This record gives sequence, structure tokens and C-alpha cells, in this order.
Amino acid sequence: MDQEILNELKHYFGYDSFLDHQAEIVEDILAGNDLCVIMPTGAGKSLCYQLPILLKPGYGIIVSPLISLMKDQVDSLCARNIPAAYINTTVPPQEQIQILNDTSDGFVKLLYVAPERFQTDLFRKFLAGNPPEILIVDEAHCISQWGHDFRTSYLKLGDIIREFSIPQVCAFTATATPRVRKDIVEQLGRPRMEIRAAGFKRPNLAFSVITCNHSEDKNNILRKYLDRKVPTIIYASTRKTVEQLAEEFDLIAYHAGMNDEARTRAQDRFMNEPCPVLVATNAFGMGIDRPDVRLVIHYNITGSLEAYYQEAGRAGRDGEPAECVLLFSYSDRFIQNFLIEMNNPPEELIRELYEVLMTIAFEAKTQSLEISADELATMLVNAKNESQVNAALSVLEKNGYIQREFRSRRPGILRFTEDLESLRKKHERQETQRSRFISRCIEYFGSALTEPVSCDIRQLSAIAALSTEQIRKVLANLNGQCLQWDAPANGKSIELLQPEKTELDIDFTKMREKYDFELGRLDEVIGYTRTDSCRQAYMVSYFGEKTGSWRCGSCDKCAGSSVFAAERRELTENEEQVIRTILRAVDYFSGRLGRGKLSLILAGARKPEITGRGLDRNPLFGKLKKIKQNNILICLKLLEDAQYLERVGNPEYPCLDLTLAGRNVLRGLDTPVLAMPDLKLDELSEKKKKSPRNETEIPMNDDGLYEEMKSLRAMLAEQRHVPLYCILSNNALRELAERQPDSPEEALEIKGIGLGKVTTVLPPFLKLIASHKQAQ
Ligand code: ADP
Repeated sequence: MDQEILNELKHYFGYDSFLDHQAEIVEDILAGNDLCVIMPTGAGKSLCYQLPILLKPGYGIIVSPLISLMKDQVDSLCARNIPAAYINTTVPPQEQIQILNDTSDGFVKLLYVAPERFQTDLFRKFLAGNPPEILIVDEAHCISQWGHDFRTSYLKLGDIIREFSIPQVCAFTATATPRVRKDIVEQLGRPRMEIRAAGFKRPNLAFSVITCNHSEDKNNILRKYLDRKVPTIIYASTRKTVEQLAEEFDLIAYHAGMNDEARTRAQDRFMNEPCPVLVATNAFGMGIDRPDVRLVIHYNITGSLEAYYQEAGRAGRDGEPAECVLLFSYSDRFIQNFLIEMNNPPEELIRELYEVLMTIAFEAKTQSLEISADELATMLVNAKNESQVNAALSVLEKNGYIQREFRSRRPGILRFTEDLESLRKKHERQETQRSRFISRCIEYFGSALTEPVSCDIRQLSAIAALSTEQIRKVLANLNGQCLQWDAPANGKSIELLQPEKTELDIDFTKMREKYDFELGRLDEVIGYTRTDSCRQAYMVSYFGEKTGSWRCGSCDKCAGSSVFAAERRELTENEEQVIRTILRAVDYFSGRLGRGKLSLILAGARKPEITGRGLDRNPLFGKLKKIKQNNILICLKLLEDAQYLERVGNPEYPCLDLTLAGRNVLRGLDTPVLAMPDLKLDELSEKKKKSPRNETEIPMNDDGLYEEMKSLRAMLAEQRHVPLYCILSNNALRELAERQPDSPEEALEIKGIGLGKVTTVLPPFLKLIASHKQAQ
């Protein structure tokens, strides 16, 4: 790297050196190349274009999707005396003109704008006289319908580049799969744009997936993680979950449904408190630059791996160790499936919606319809709910058939109808949510409450310190009793733009492709939860970076199970016996029953769902009756987690069947290794008394061979960085010492020695046996 560029780096930014990959990108941009740079959050993308723009003649435009993001960037540049400015709706017109003048006079080198800015006359006039040297498209994945953050306004950038003959164009994003990359290059109309995917490896991040059955499991795990008291972000997929978790664990909440002020407050707390724990939807994070986040927990799966990696990647931006945990429950998949369905309304619904809108317009003799998605949903046979109708309206809007505008919002109106003083007395102890609500409202609004007061749910939630959900319930209960509540109206008006067109001309094939594409992306996420090798390598290669034999060394797959799960270990003989019985039952019903029924049968529960179907008349009924049904359920879950069992059949009512690994255990070709907590199966199982095998009980007659073998096993385990049982189980080792086989074929008869072991670990043991025999 040119010393001069390093000097400029120091001069402008105060850094002595570049971060990984920055130098190559800066050089390439200085050389005038078009690049599409895909580097993860925190890799230092901004500097890659900021420095070259400062060193080039002319000025550069940076297109950025969010006003807050723009402001943060420009503020931090200005703090370094770097000539940067932004123009957006928050800047008064006079100031905008000043900034444009400064830019054309060379006093602004980095000009940040939102994509919509290119549609304004003032800016277009300016561009015509002062085209930029380079256009940077930040968060470039927004350009792609296949990206998780598609913005229509980004689609027009290609035209702008052509119209104003902008000589150099570079795109930057943290997340872009092959499909999105292709779209970026195509939409910008720059076929020679080079793709650079780099820096996805984040060795300081330890990824893990914990499979949970329901939210109770998740909350228990969450509770343990929160004990750590480190800066943490928890991502949940819905606003409702965010609010529930915020309330249950007393966390800072953040989602797009909160007003600006509340969101800014949440963001400020997150940035300034020493160990904040914030629970948020995916609305949180763009442009947030807290480097010491130690933990990112996903309470639900995301719809794509891009989204997951971007959100999880907000951990450990300072390079210090941090953890990214995904609490996976299979049912989350259905939530995501549902969301995908909602976002991709079917053709029939869109057609039906358009017909209904046309009919309403015809009958009302107007093209401006005052009707909400909610009302429309009740009129449409094909609509599942309001949000699906909203998505269908968006499709019509995107295709130029309608335009939606916000109707002026009317706030909610609250009035107490009973005497305030007696209400206050009656509820002053605030023993119930209703009482708390009444008492705090009276305290806050005072006598004004006898007249209608304007307020919204959020305000009431703050006043009564109840969640918005609770407020809704309380209001529904009290309405018409001691108070009157008129809920706020916030619909949109719909303007028909082409009332003469009765037929829709929309590319429905493309829409179906998008639907399939999104389902495919969801499968990738499920694939991630199930991968058996390094989690990070799985993701890094998904983003197009080569991994070869690279492994992160710290994910749950590389380094063992996640912190709060029990250690994977070899089982005691009785535990193993229980596990085999369970596997036998699964095999017996060969994929026809789910966890619940299997556990009831094994526990011998004479419940109607068992006896009614004759499921009590089989050899396995009551086979584990000494063990609590709940513990059998846990074992079934552990077996599934360890992939000895898999789900089959209808995903809504999944049944269990054996995997190949499960079959091998059942056939005695392998020993099960599970992350088994102490379920006290030994104490409960009758087998214990009969069990003859216990190291201290049976004297070995092997002339010390067993001890030598144990040392050999320890040495191999250390060499390979694996636990002892991964080399050979105690039982297998003991039998090997007893039988002293001469050949691999003989050794294969021993339980726990499978074909895999014959080539990998067995040879040194056979050698040891051979030399032991010779010595005798
Ligand atoms: P991204 O946009 O890729 O998420 P940023 O551009 O926000 O990343 O940079 C991440 C952090 O790295 C910022 O705090 C930034 O100041 C810092 N940074 C960038 N380049 C360097 C460098 N060469 N040396 C030290 N720190 C850097």
C-alpha cells in the first residue's frame, strides 16, 4: 500500500493502518473501478468509499436508506473535520440550497442523500450542472426484490446513473446472496461491476443453536443468559413478543410500532448504559454502532440467513469474544411460513381486491376511497387477514393501480363516566391491572377525565405502566362500565389511478418466484440449525466467501454443546438401556407416532388417546413405567437433537422415526452419545440391581492392557482435541481389552465399534493388543 494513502488515512481518520480488505478496496475505487462490496457489519465498509472520495477530484454522492443512518455518519465525519453533509426532509429548503452551493464550490466532498431525493426538481437541476464523480449505493441489498429490505425507491437508481452519466458506481452491503448480487449489478446497469465478498469470518463470535420446545424453554434459557449482565440484544420476530419479553424480564424494548421519542429513548439507553439488555424486532440495528455487544440472542428464527448474520453480527464488533445464540423451536418455522404467505398474497386475492375496489368506486362515484385494509379484509373471500390485504394493496400500488395516502389520524378518546373520587378510593390499592389503570389515569389526567380526553394506547401504557396488550384488554373490559373508550382510527385512503383499466397486467409469475424464493431462504435457515459441522463456516460459504477447511473453533459444533445445555457424554448402562427401549418403540411404530403418544405408551399411561386406539396392546406398553413421562419426553427430544431421531410426516403434527444413526444404535453398532442431564434414570430403573457392569465391581483379567488402552485413548483424544468418548466408549474399550481381537473384523463385533472407527481409531489399539500378546 502506497505510503501516501496511509498518510491520508491517518490525516483524515486518525488510523495507522487499514482493517482487513479495506486497502484493496480503497485502491480499486481510486483506480476508478465499479465494485459491489459485500462485507459484514462492522468490517469498516464506510471508510472504503469515504477515503477514496476525499482523495479524488470532485465530490461523491452516497445513497443511504435511513435518515438516522445518514445523520450519524455525517455527524461523525464532521467531528473529524471531513467535509460531509446530508440533504433530506429534515433539512430546511434554504439550508439545502446552501449545501448544494457548497458542494458545487468544492466545500462538500461527501454528500449523503436518500434515494427519493433524485425525484425532486431542485436536486435534479443541481445534478445536471454538477454530476458527481462517483455514486455510492449504501445498503445496496435494498435494490433487490430478493433482498430482505427491498425499497422501491432504490429501483430508480439505474435510471439516474444513466441520465446523469455518473462515471463510477460502487455498491456496498453487508448481506447479499448470489441472487441479490446479480440484482444489484443488473439494476444499477453496471455489467462490469466486480463483486468482492470478504470478511465474513468473525472468529471472535461463538454461534450456537439451542433447540427448544416452547416459549417456556426459551424463557428459562434466556433467564440464565441474562444473569451474565453484559450488553445484549435479543431479537424477536413480532412486536408482541418484544413487549411480552420486555415486560417479563424488565428489558428495554424497541420496535417500529413505538413512537419516535420512545425509540430514541430506547436507543440512547442502549448506547449509554453500561450493560443494557434490549429486546427488539428487526427494526433495530441499522446504523447502531455499539462495539461491545457481548451477546445477541435470537428468540425466533429469521426468515433468511442474511438477516440472521446481519443481526447476530452486531455482537462483538470490538473483536472481543461474543456469543450469538439462536433459540430454535420448530414451530417458529410456521410463523415464518405464515409471514411469507402474508407478504406474498396470492393472485386470486389481488384480482378479487382490485375488483372490489373498482366496485366500491363505481357505486360511490369516486376514485378516492376511504376504506381500511381491515374493512376490506371482511369483504374479500380470499383474504386471510388485514396484513395480507395490506400486502395485496402494496402489490397494486407497486404496479401503479392505486396510491395510498395516510388519512389524518384520529387519536383515541377516553372519558370516565363515574364519579372520579369514588373511583379513586375504590381502586387506590391497585390490586388488579384494571385498578392500576383507573387509579393512575385519575392521578395523571385529574378532573379532565370527566370530559373526553385524546390519548393513544401507548400513552396509556406509559401512564399505567402496563403493556399495550394489557391496556387493550383493560379498556375492552371497562368500556361501557366506568369509562367510555373510542379507539383511534388510523386508516389510509386509496386512490384509484387507472379506473379505466378493468384487467390487471401484473407479472404474477415473478411474484410466485419470489414466494418460492423466500420459502427456499427459510429452508436455508433450518439447514443452519441442523448443520452438523461448523456453524460459521456454513454461513460464510453461504455468502460466497471461500472457507476450504476453515473452522471457527468456537461454535457449538466445533467446541461442543452450547453453554447451558448439558455436556454431551457417554451414558451409564442404565441410561443406555432406557434410550435403546425408546428407540425400539420408535422403530416399532415406524414413523406413525409423535413424541406425546410414544411417551405415554412407554410410560404405560392408560389414557383415552392410547387405549381408544388400542395402543396399549403392544409389547412396549409400560416398558418404561418406572420413569416419569416427562423424562421420556426429554429423552425423545435429546435423541432428536442428536439426530438419532427425525421428524417425519405432516409438519404440523410431526411423527418420529429413526435416522441411520439411530438405527445403528439400535442394532448395537454404535453407542449413543447425548447431552443428557441427570434424570436419575439409574435410580429409577430396575436394571440397576441386575447390572453386573461397573468398573470397580468387576476385576479385569487383562494384565494391565485396559489401563494401557485408557492411556492410549487419552493420548489420541488430546491429539485430536475431542472428548474421550469420541475415541472409544468405556464399554467398548473394556470389551476390547477383554476380547483382545486380532483383526478389524473381530473388533467390529464389539458394541460401539462401527465401520467409522475401524479406519480412524482402531489401528493403534489393535497394534497395542498385538504387542501386548507378543510380550506375554
Ligand atoms: P460497517 O459499515 O462495515 O458496518 P463501519 O464503517 O461502521 O462498518 O466501521 C466499523 C467500525 O470500524 C467503526 O467504528 C469504524 O470507526 C472502525 N474502523 C473503520 N476503519 C478502521 C481502521 N482502518 N482502523 C480502525 N478502525 C476502523
